[in-house]
Amino acid sequence: MSTPPPPPSDPTAVYTAGDFIRRVIESLFRAEFRGRVLCARCLVKQAKEHLDRSYAKRDVIEVIDELFVTPHPMQVVTGSCGLCTKKKVPCLGLPGLAA
Ligand SMILES: [Zn+2]
Repeated sequence: MSTPPPPPSDPTAVYTAGDFIRRVIESLFRAEFRGRVLCARCLVKQAKEHLDRSYAKRDVIEVIDELFVTPHPMQVVTGSCGLCTKKKVPCLGLPGLAA
């Protein structure tokens, strides 16, 4: 009976760009966009502004798209974007953090 080697435990190894972008978005909803919801377009724009230039816009868009599919702990709602004020669009927000 041989024990297989444990998986690598370096936390940075599993820390993907997607995770990072997700955290950036989440922190936006805890700070400047507290209590507001944002549409995908604005989220991409905001994320780009808070991220290193090394992130390709295409990658950011991909992560934002995924956020709308699996938003937890954020939530997807249909409403008015808190930034561009576009109405009846799918927006992302963080519930329980009313302004
Ligand atoms: Zn917007």
